[in-house]
Amino acid sequence: MSQLEMVNANIRQAAKVLELGPRVEKLILNPNREMKVEVAIELDNGEIATFNGYRVQHNDARGPMKGGLRYHPTVDAEDVTALASLMTWKTAVVDIPYGGAKGGINCDPATLSLRELERVTRKFTAHIREIIGPNVDIPAPDVNTNAQVMAWVMDEYSRFYGFSPAVVTGKPLDLHGSVGREEATGRGVAFITESFFAETGRTLQGARVVIQGFGNVGSFAALFLQRAGANIIAVSDVSGGVSRADGLPIPALIEHVRKNKGMVQGFREAEAITGDAIFTTPCDVFIPAALGGVLTKERAEALRAEVVIEAANAPTTAEGDDVLQRRGIPTLPDILVNAGGVTVSYFEWVQNVQQFRWDGERVDSELRALMTKAYRDVSQLVKSRRLSWRAAAYVLALERVAKATLMRGVQ
Ligand code: NAD
Repeated sequence: MSQLEMVNANIRQAAKVLELGPRVEKLILNPNREMKVEVAIELDNGEIATFNGYRVQHNDARGPMKGGLRYHPTVDAEDVTALASLMTWKTAVVDIPYGGAKGGINCDPATLSLRELERVTRKFTAHIREIIGPNVDIPAPDVNTNAQVMAWVMDEYSRFYGFSPAVVTGKPLDLHGSVGREEATGRGVAFITESFFAETGRTLQGARVVIQGFGNVGSFAALFLQRAGANIIAVSDVSGGVSRADGLPIPALIEHVRKNKGMVQGFREAEAITGDAIFTTPCDVFIPAALGGVLTKERAEALRAEVVIEAANAPTTAEGDDVLQRRGIPTLPDILVNAGGVTVSYFEWVQNVQQFRWDGERVDSELRALMTKAYRDVSQLVKSRRLSWRAAAYVLALERVAKATLMRGVQ
């Protein structure tokens, strides 16, 4: 089952629970608009390179559409559509006034110079500028894009429409970005994990946590979970893994990764393990924070965890999900767990629109309030309707989107 089929199956299941009927389902499943553009640039050596660029706008019933830009060789139209749909449900779960969108270019930034990356970004922005805007569709960073890329998007858009910081979020702090945006997704992952433990009267003190992926999301999640008392006993990335039974020293590991081309391998204060061993390490909390589709049927069977907290987008396959459900391992879904990023993106947009800057304390406390409320809303549905965590999150989101759609009316 593809990622898009999985997301659509989740929506159909939620529509059935809500007894919405085929009329609403029809309105909500398909994206509003899909744009594909040719991104042709001159490389530094004078040759021409062309890439496919996509922007998919899924749904705007609850507000302007919002979603990241991904630069990765595997980016294609169907993937971007699935990720755009996930954004519609994610913004609805945390109840921020947005719809969902996603974009991407099938380039590998590791093979491009900084100037080439800038040209790719500006060319793509020029192509999509007519369909984005502060009240229409607001891009943000995703895999392999960062604050610098967002600054170029803002600058290129502003050349046509005047100074427009609110057209994109995840910008550098010196260019109307928000404090707390960089660490927001990882911080949100920690809030959700804490809430899960708190519900059963526990704290994270001494909880054993295993994390796959040690980039932006994985490393900040590790840092905040450790600060809350958890022991991060193993992490892995594309280079392999490291483990330590009494807990990895996360600040030292982050420093090592910073100096070691983004990789955990070679960290001296821990034991080296294989990337695959991460899926069989006994723990209390397992956090996938790398790519999609990693929790397959086999890995779900082998997993030795009490709870799965999905920090990555779509990390569990449909078959893996069935196994986790059968084994009674609660799986808190991506559209709840990793919504901290888009939530602080929303705070950044609010600050840009109001031309008023918040301090870090305000960002953190507003983020905690929204994430904890979303957790409670989903948890209540899990109990009252006897749903899995994923089904409950989709029911909550779909109800909000369907209400907005019907109230706005269909001509
Ligand atoms: P990143 O590029 O900063 O980090 C990705 C990490 O995954 C790296 O440590 C990399 O080595 C590791 N990785 C890549 N391939 C791997 C493999 N085959 N096996 C093991 N590890 C592998 O990306 P990120 O921003 O941390 O995003 C991670 C996930 O979280 C993605 O699914 C992304 O869509 C999702 N997400 C990110 C944000 C955000 O704000 N950055 C928000 C919501 C969701």
